[in-house]
Amino acid sequence: MSATLIDGKAISQQIKDELKEKCLELKDKGIEVTLAVILVGSDPASQVYVRNKKRACEYIGYNSLSYELPEDTTMEKLLGIIDELNNRSDVDGILVQMPLPKHMDEKKVINAIRPDKDVDGFHPMNVGALVVGDKGFVSCTPAGVIQLLKRGLPDYDISGKECVIVGRSNIVGKPMSLLMLRENATVTVAHSRTSNLKEVCKRADIIIAAVGKAGVITKDHVKPGAVVIDVGINRGDDGKLCGDVKFDEVSEIAHAITPVPGGVGPMTIAMLMNNCYEAALSHKLGE
Ligand code: NDP
Repeated sequence: MSATLIDGKAISQQIKDELKEKCLELKDKGIEVTLAVILVGSDPASQVYVRNKKRACEYIGYNSLSYELPEDTTMEKLLGIIDELNNRSDVDGILVQMPLPKHMDEKKVINAIRPDKDVDGFHPMNVGALVVGDKGFVSCTPAGVIQLLKRGLPDYDISGKECVIVGRSNIVGKPMSLLMLRENATVTVAHSRTSNLKEVCKRADIIIAAVGKAGVITKDHVKPGAVVIDVGINRGDDGKLCGDVKFDEVSEIAHAITPVPGGVGPMTIAMLMNNCYEAALSHKLGE
């Protein structure tokens, strides 16, 4: 492998350690940071995510409030809890773990969270703020990718680079494109209807793959010397976790690459923790 490996585990640890310090400083001023996490149902992957989020809060020194609700919880009940948390002055961030059970309306739930407590950055007000360049919470995974690029490749200038993002979901691809635009990259967003994906990707100095299909990005998609960020989390035929990028062959020609696991994955929680800190500053110090 000739590419530089961008170590998401180490960078996320660095961010969590910085937050731990800052949290202590807030505590000296009598300020506590509190995240409320709501899980509906018993999806095993969601249970793991929620547990990891609570652990991260504990590590940094935030309070976490946990609501674990049965699968058959009504929308009314969930919206009631969100309303209560919206009105609690001690609560800085509210996170509802997605996906929700089928009988629930995810959009309605996201819209019910007060935008200044929407630490996932999914509320249309926060998405709109990103579009027009206002302050707001940015979706955690794309925000994590920016930190990976900046901290993992400190001498690399994103400005002016050709960036191809593969995937256009509301939580990854679309906000990612806006963040890369904010960093002055020239951005192309590819998706399942893109013709000539290989040719489009081959133009890129930076490829960000957020597709959710193992091995969809091969060495034939990558210009030698490109930076390749792999957001995908998939199970390979061997049952192991893998990304969207064929790591073995792409790492031979790329300038830098993120592994899966240990790349983008750990950054999502670190950026969630960062959003909680920002929320507390704004609620409790008016910053
Ligand atoms: P979605 O399924 O919502 O979006 C996938 C996108 O990929 C869509 O825009 C789709 O296009 C596009 N796509 C699908 N097939 C192809 C193809 N053959 N060629 C080009 N584009 C294609 O997924 P998410 O954005 O939610 O997640 C993407 C991946 O990232 C998943 O593996 C997910 O697990 C992972 N993920 C990782 C996180 C982390 O913390 N590391 C956090 C969030 C997600 P179209 O719009 O046309 O359907």
